[in-house]
Order: sequence, then structure tokens, then C-alpha cells
Amino acid sequence: MPDPNAPFSATKKCPHCGRWTEWQQQPTDRCQHCGQVLEPRRAAADEHRQQQADAPLSEGLLLIEINPDENPIVKFFKYIIRGGQLAFGAFMAFMMWLLAAVAG
Ligand SMILES: [Zn+2]
Repeated sequence: MPDPNAPFSATKKCPHCGRWTEWQQQPTDRCQHCGQVLEPRRAAADEHRQQQADAPLSEGLLLIEINPDENPIVKFFKYIIRGGQLAFGAFMAFMMWLLAAVAG
């Protein structure tokens, strides 16, 4: 989605090769010369935000990924770890509630 306040295309000096390249002012834009991401830090931040948006249940808790193609035994253990992570999240929520109840 282009920024309406920005010109359709602009140039930016590539931080990797130092040459000027066209870009659409998007964090995923790559240099025309060396193919590197022009704003790697912004791209990483966006990716992180995307991951959090994909897992609203975890509420900031980083759940491990379970790949459907994985070995069933590996998946089994990952489900156990994930269950532990969710239980820990619930425990923390309970502690917050308890602290709030005691303080109030
Ligand atoms: Zn470059």
C-alpha cells in the first residue's frame, strides 16, 4: 500500500553498496544493484509485529512453532512445551490478578 503523501517513486542511497537505487519507501524494498533490503531494521520490526498479530492467544508470549510436516514425536514434544507455555501465561495472569486483588 503506497503512502499517499510520498511520491510514487523515490531514490535512496543503499546502505550496503552505497549506490542510489529506486524504492517505493517500503521496508521490504531491495536495492537494484546488490539486492539487499534497504531498511533491514524496519523490515525485521515489521516481521516481528506480524508474528505477534498471527498469535493473539499468546499475548506477547512467544510460542514455539509447530510445523505440520514434522516428525510426529517432535510434534508431540512441541505440543507439551506449548502447553507449558500457555499454562505459564495463565499462571502469570493469575498472579497479576492476585497482586491487583491484594493491592486493592
Ligand atoms: Zn545496494
